[in-house]
Amino acid sequence: MSLLVVGTVALDSVKTPFGNVDNALGGSATYFSTSASYFTDVRLVAVIGEDFPKEHIQFLKSKAIDTRGLQQEKGKTFHWKGEYGYDLNEARTLATDLNVLATFQPVIIDDYKDSDVVFLANIDPEIQLDVLKQVRKPKLVACDTMNYWITSKLDALKRTLREVDLLTINEGEVRQLAGEASLVKAAKKVQAMGPKTVVVKQGSYGALMFSGGSVFSAPAFPLESVFDPTGAGDTFAGGFMGYLANTMNFSESSMRQAVIFGSVMASMNVEAFSLDRLRSLDYGEIEGRYREFKRLTHFEDI
Ligand code: AMP
Repeated sequence: MSLLVVGTVALDSVKTPFGNVDNALGGSATYFSTSASYFTDVRLVAVIGEDFPKEHIQFLKSKAIDTRGLQQEKGKTFHWKGEYGYDLNEARTLATDLNVLATFQPVIIDDYKDSDVVFLANIDPEIQLDVLKQVRKPKLVACDTMNYWITSKLDALKRTLREVDLLTINEGEVRQLAGEASLVKAAKKVQAMGPKTVVVKQGSYGALMFSGGSVFSAPAFPLESVFDPTGAGDTFAGGFMGYLANTMNFSESSMRQAVIFGSVMASMNVEAFSLDRLRSLDYGEIEGRYREFKRLTHFEDI
């Protein structure tokens, strides 16, 4: 089935205790669509500048991602600069250069309007709303966001939240959005803003899914080495939504499987810089790690 994503395609400069990269391929929609491409057909809506290397477009095409929605505009590509200390759970943003993103007006081509599933990846909430206005009747709409937009565009973000079925969000950001220290209370408050389901990403601690009145908890995969956590959240969302778009089954048990597929993809992404680990996975590796997750969390009833 078809999955439409709008988000950022970026050039990222990232430093971790294990190395650094300058102007590497990044962006919420890039990580999301590469991850989701292992599960379903992906249609990508984003903006790039004149400086965006052609080889990156070739790479997205090589993953069978539909890039007809990638708009090239005059100016420079969105650039994010961040740094991580030994606690890889928290990125410190050093620069957010919006560049062509500042004036981006997404145009949804006719072939994309009937997409079954829509993911509004982390981007200006006004752009998220603009995309929603242009699609017909998706069966599932989900979104993501981050502190940058919670701080600068709260009203628009609240309008977006009213229109979505599901939100994926970091632990610190769900607390900030709800103005509530307790994670459980914060998730409930955010559910009351619109999304029936709230998936809280907890970095190396895993993910929690609040859905109606139920809670599902998934650990993160215990990895020996993590090099670069950039994009882990978007890669999680790509696996999660990609699986749901593939099955078109939004039952509680299918959503739980989707959380594990999201965790599998995120655990792979952090094992290398930029998207390097996601470039050439095979589906057997993904299934293998899914089964390892099952063994990791299985215990007998008393
Ligand atoms: P994550 O580590 O999953 O939270 O996402 C990291 C990606 O988000 C990077 O590749 C950045 O290019 C992108 N990013 C950083 N800041 C923003 C922002 N304000 N809006 C949209 N995308 C962003």
